Amino acid sequence: MGAMLIKRGGARFRFRKAGRAPRTPGRYHGCAAVLSTKHGKEVVVAPPLKALLGLAVQVPAGLDTDTLGTFTGEVERVGTPLEVAARKARLGMDAAGLSLGLASEGSFGPDPRVPFAPLHHELMVFVDDRLQIQVVEQMTTHRTNYEHITAASFADLGDFLDRAGFPSHAVVVRPNAGLKTWPPHKGLRTVEALQAALRECASASRDGLARVETDMRAHMNPSRLAVIRRLAFRLGRRLLRRCPACETPGWGVVEVVKGLPCAECGHPTGLVGELVAACPLCTHRANRPRYDGRRAAPARDCPYCNP
Ligand SMILES: [Zn+2]
Ligand SMILES: [Zn+2]
Repeated sequence: MGAMLIKRGGARFRFRKAGRAPRTPGRYHGCAAVLSTKHGKEVVVAPPLKALLGLAVQVPAGLDTDTLGTFTGEVERVGTPLEVAARKARLGMDAAGLSLGLASEGSFGPDPRVPFAPLHHELMVFVDDRLQIQVVEQMTTHRTNYEHITAASFADLGDFLDRAGFPSHAVVVRPNAGLKTWPPHKGLRTVEALQAALRECASASRDGLARVETDMRAHMNPSRLAVIRRLAFRLGRRLLRRCPACETPGWGVVEVVKGLPCAECGHPTGLVGELVAACPLCTHRANRPRYDGRRAAPARDCPYCNP
């Protein structure tokens, strides 16, 4: 028993020494960053950044990020997701008076490459005003419940609620036609509340139908929250990587280059051939191989072998 305990302690010590944690405390150790959210994202963003960087994440009270756009369309989002996320981070930094800020922005829609598959794109930005840098990580996934349906009654919903992950994932209900200014019922998580909203919106709608949507706000959507958590880990690891030229944190992949050569004929295909890593501050860039190590594309993806 005693020997086992010693062995365990030794193993832990070796693990620490081999170190996934940085050998020297990173630049952001002991610092505080503000996360601009009114939807509880700190629950999944703060722990990874604390563990990886020693960075404390705080949320300013009373911040209203809805002024920059809402999923339910009352306020239209203006600009690219990165522009919106950067503006959101700035909002929190100004409110908290901090030079470090974070924000994430989600976009949902049909995948142009896969029919009927909804796509979730999430982007997270880290702003450091002292270094004058902006570091971005992003992720796309099909693992989302994003969907909507029109229904005259609760029975019309069929298995929509199962696909939506209701009630752990909330839904939004509004009239389907003719009432753009009608305030949507958001965050519905009980059958009773959903039924009442459905009745009200269906009878108010010109076509007698209610529109039922998945609620994509982070605190109402555990699937989205899981993606934001993974993104926070990615961002944390990226902030540990320094530029080989100027040592600024945030070195990482900024774009992909297509043209992975065909295994049969060597012709460039539409698949990603290389990744380009760059520094958020200086002009240093470097090409690197794909994460999966693939150096050739199958002939079926080749425009010559499989036109
Ligand atoms: Zn080929
Ligand atoms: Zn650099």
